[in-house]
Amino acid sequence: MSAPRLEIDLHKIGHNARALVHLLSKKGISVSGVTKAMLGMPAFTTALRTAGVQILADSRLQNISTMRSAGTQSPIWLIRSPMIEEVAQVVEHVDISLNTELDVIAELSKAATAAKKTHGILLMVELGDLREGIMPADLEDIVGEVLQFPNIALMGLGTNLACRSGVSPDAKNMGELTKLANATEQKFAIELPIISGGNSSNLDSILSGADVGRINNLRLGEAILLGCEPLHRQPLAGLHTDAFTLVAQTIESKLKPSQPWGTIAEAAFGAPKSDAPASLQAQGHILQSILALGHMDTDPNGLTPISNVKILGSSSDHLFVETGDALLPIGSEVRFDLNYSALVRAMASPFIEKMLLNRATAT
Ligand SMILES: *Cc1c(COP(=O)(O)O)cnc(C)c1O
Repeated sequence: MSAPRLEIDLHKIGHNARALVHLLSKKGISVSGVTKAMLGMPAFTTALRTAGVQILADSRLQNISTMRSAGTQSPIWLIRSPMIEEVAQVVEHVDISLNTELDVIAELSKAATAAKKTHGILLMVELGDLREGIMPADLEDIVGEVLQFPNIALMGLGTNLACRSGVSPDAKNMGELTKLANATEQKFAIELPIISGGNSSNLDSILSGADVGRINNLRLGEAILLGCEPLHRQPLAGLHTDAFTLVAQTIESKLKPSQPWGTIAEAAFGAPKSDAPASLQAQGHILQSILALGHMDTDPNGLTPISNVKILGSSSDHLFVETGDALLPIGSEVRFDLNYSALVRAMASPFIEKMLLNRATAT
């Protein structure tokens, strides 16, 4: 087995997806399974489908192409506003895209007309997180224009919170989205079948019984993968939080001083602040190992050792760990849990082997 590698337990991920689909269906909420962190990997989309996730959603057209090339028949949403030069491919591969700009929707309309297709859109509404979204006061005008575009079907509204600024989804902002949906329907005598209330960070409020208003869809990535909600990073009951393990190999093990010597200036990644707890900083010599894993591979700050080591610091290519009383043998492996930041970077790194465990059988 090669290292560094990311071990991915597809059975645990499938279990999480199934549990979330079940819990949310009781509240009339469908799940769009967000595939971006997994780069649209076919074994993952199969696990989602097998678990009852009917819609797939990704922010990147490359991942969506991967899924379509693998033969995915599921409806796919593009959950980041399309770039203008992408519109023809968006119309070809994507059923519904999330939009906020009339310039983009105009281009989607032209591309859809040329392809003799109807392209669905959700308009994203800004509710305070200052990520993507139309300001609520502008929504009516924009809907009026959107309804004029040929081959564009306005399928509903969406919002995204807790992403840039950490604004929590709650009954209040979900109520605001509900009111906007109702007002839009009345004003234009249309139906908005999809009201997509957000991402994994909505689960806290929804599962604790807050009024969801007209929310009937969530776009879930992190909760399916890591089994936790992103607001307080608490595990969700009954979900696996250990579907992923990052494994790195030891390339140096030595007894070294706990403190550097010489004139100290900036290190490769800025100020050389030692990550070590104060108790470690002046304790003479310690057993230190270097693992072949660094910023090129993952977010070292998002790793938690499963093995009995402490992370001291990192560089592009090295992770420095203190190993207590035992010298790690050269070539031995050290295992880590990952947070979302470490996970997405590990998935995107070409240097990390992805090892799939417990694949679901295709349905
Ligand atoms: C990434 C993303 C999601 C999924 O977020 P999680 O916190 O991983 O559930 C949902 N919606 C949009 C627009 C996204 O970009």
